[in-house]
Order: sequence, then structure tokens, then C-alpha cells
Amino acid sequence: MKNIELKTIGINPDLPNIALVATGGTIAQRVDPKTKATVPSLSGAALVDLVPQILQLANIKLYDFSNIDSSQMTPNLWLKLSKIVNELLLNPQIKGVVVTHGTDTIAEAAYFLDLTTKSTKPVVFTGAMKSTSEIITDGPLNLYNAVNLAVADEAQNIGVVVELNQYINSARYTRKIHTDNVHSFNSGDRGYLGYVAKNKIIKFRERDFNPYFPIPDSLPKVVLLKSYSGDDGSFIRYAADSGVKGIVIEGFGAGNVDEQSHDAIVYTLSKKIPIIIATQVTDGIVLPMYGSKGGGATLQSAGAIMANDISGIKARLLLMLALSYVNSDTEKLRKYFS
Ligand code: ASP
Repeated sequence: MKNIELKTIGINPDLPNIALVATGGTIAQRVDPKTKATVPSLSGAALVDLVPQILQLANIKLYDFSNIDSSQMTPNLWLKLSKIVNELLLNPQIKGVVVTHGTDTIAEAAYFLDLTTKSTKPVVFTGAMKSTSEIITDGPLNLYNAVNLAVADEAQNIGVVVELNQYINSARYTRKIHTDNVHSFNSGDRGYLGYVAKNKIIKFRERDFNPYFPIPDSLPKVVLLKSYSGDDGSFIRYAADSGVKGIVIEGFGAGNVDEQSHDAIVYTLSKKIPIIIATQVTDGIVLPMYGSKGGGATLQSAGAIMANDISGIKARLLLMLALSYVNSDTEKLRKYFS
């Protein structure tokens, strides 16, 4: 590879090559005996050592990207990660890519990668809920299954997915549903893409298609705010006045806000700063239904864009990328969310 130095683990010529990009997260963490708190610890090679059975499935081409808790991921790191994964996907010797990542922001990272990669090869994100210091850890099984999925012919054209606890989730719809349990991800109404059984990939439905964006040099600042009863809209106004390039609001229900937030949204739109309305409800889509002040239909007529069926955090990523290409052109932006 041009710029990326990969460490090869396993040299069986009869097996496919899988790239493993290690970024950190609980899967690579251990309890510090002094503080009794979980901290980053294991390198990518140490992760493979925990589950050597992987080498019966594939040779591993390892890239240690970082070893951080995923709460420390940033837009700049996503750009860097996407560049590396794109390069790995172009390598004809590599059948698929597995990314180990903390579960706190894995859904964001996977969606960002889905929006910025275009390949028939799979990109499988995985992680763990239990660190290697716990009596039972889910990391080794998750990693084994991620490699198992990445080598499978059924995974061709599957896009970017998140696989934990044997379930395969699409990057577009997946979300973390538990703070501690190993069954920590689902895809809501849309359902799982599939399931990794012992030596079989069971597909439940076809992949989701997302817009594709070539990786921009940088990402504009877009903030995510959440509605609550009695909101006076002051944070929306503050964001609008502080130079952000876009605001995503997780409104109530089908996409409604209170009257004062409505006024703050109209103020923001008058400054040509796009507003995306998502919902804080976990399932369903945002519908421009209500015509009173603050209602979704009123917000849409005022120029706000409905996020359709994606969550606030994902609408933020989509807006950041879309803004990089179409600036604040509302009609062009609206298409990405329809
Ligand atoms: N705090 C961890 C993270 O890096 C949680 C996890 O990985 O499960 O996101």
C-alpha cells in the first residue's frame, strides 16, 4: 500500500486477507488496578491474540489507527479514518475491512463511513460492552464474528455495518440501546440486516443505500440541540449567532417544537443557516403534520428541512457532509434528507 503500513498476522495463502483497523473502545480496554477504572490498553495485535481462531478464517492486515475511548472521536478523526478505510478497500488483496471501535459513538462513525465509502466490499464495525478485565467479555466473540462476516460472500455489497452480539445492523439505522448489556445495538423499526451464526451468515433484509460523498478536506461546524418543555429557544439563537454552519434539532414527536423555539428557528433561517428537524423519538419518521406555531408543517413552510427517518446524530453527519458540497442551498440540501 502507498502510505499505509500494515502489520500482517497469518500467512495462509488459502485464506482471504481482511484489514483490521483498531481504533480503541472497551474491546481494547482493561481495568487499571490502581484506579479500578477501565482505560485503553490493548493494541490491535493483542486483540488478535485474544482470539487466535480468527486466523483460521483470514490473514489479518492490521492497522493501529488509535487507542482511544470513542467518546474522544472527532470529525477530523472520522475524515482520517475514512481516508484509510477507502485506501484499504481499493487494495485488491483485501476482501473486507473490520474496524474495532468504542460502542459509545460507533453508530456515528459507521454512518460517516457509509456516507464516504463506495465499495462492494464490506466494512464491519465491532466493539465490546465488557472489557477484557471482566469475568466474561464479549469482545473476542464480536471480533471473531466480524471477521467471519467480512470474509463471507454474503457480505459483498452489504455496505458499512455494525455487528455486535451476532446481529448485523445497517449504519443508517443502528443505535446503542443499552449502557451495559452485551445486547447493546438494534436498528429499530427497520430491523437487523442479518445474524452471524456459527459458520453461516443469515440475511434478513437488503442493505440501505445512502448518498455518497467524496471525503472533503474539512467539515463545517454543525450542532445538535434537543427540544424540551419550556425551551425558550435561547440556545438555538446562541448557536446561530456563534457562527455554526447548520443546526439539527431533535424536536418532539413527529418533528415539533415550542413557540419560542419556532421563533428562534425562523431567526436562524433568516441568517441563511440551515435547520434540520429530527425527532427525539426512537422509531418512526419526522412528518410535517402540525400547522400551529412550532408544528412540523409550519417549520417546513418556514424553510426547515425534515430529517425523514434518521436520528439527530446521523442527520448532523449528513448535514456536515452535504454542506461541504452544496453550501446552504435549501432545495439541494432537502434532497439528501428525502
Ligand atoms: N466507553 C466505551 C467507548 O469507547 C464504551 C464501549 O466501547 O463499549 O465507547
